[in-house]
Amino acid sequence: MPLTPAHVLPAGTVYFLTYRHLHGTAFFLATLLIDVEPALYVIFNVPIPRFPLLAGGYAPISLYMVTHNPFGILILVAPAITVLAKLLELGKPLWLAVLRGAEWVTYSWKRTYLSAIAGGFLHLGWDITMHTDINLGFPFTSFSNPFVSHEALTVILLLSLVLMLPSYFFGKKINRGNPFKKLP
Ligand SMILES: [Zn+2]
Repeated sequence: MPLTPAHVLPAGTVYFLTYRHLHGTAFFLATLLIDVEPALYVIFNVPIPRFPLLAGGYAPISLYMVTHNPFGILILVAPAITVLAKLLELGKPLWLAVLRGAEWVTYSWKRTYLSAIAGGFLHLGWDITMHTDINLGFPFTSFSNPFVSHEALTVILLLSLVLMLPSYFFGKKINRGNPFKKLP
């Protein structure tokens, strides 16, 4: 979770390549706000809930229990971010005034949801290299995360940094417009 802002790096690199197809607000909010769960426990001292698993027993106590798994992203994180992103679209005149000359692209609810899923899974894809207590089987069963790897963590970070600039220029060739001048 201290790494939450760093998730902008892989997200930015992916966004540069695909911005025409992504609801940017939903995508980036999902990569960041998925960490609201550990923040609630760590910063706001919300007690970690006891969560019964469908296969029996309880989910192991974890800072990432509910949100950091495919089910949590599809059922909870992405829908919540989709609604938030659509609400933020209501401020269209304001955003267009703030980002002068920006192009406004209309994205469907489905595309907005898919963008939030992409952001959530991108976050999870990096987090599973860091945290042993991510349970990818939630809420069905519990198994320990087999993907923890400092090497993979570092490779993802370095690839994000090294590829960011090439992604920006290549992305501008294959997408119309400018990733910094596109809303939402
Ligand atoms: Zn996380």
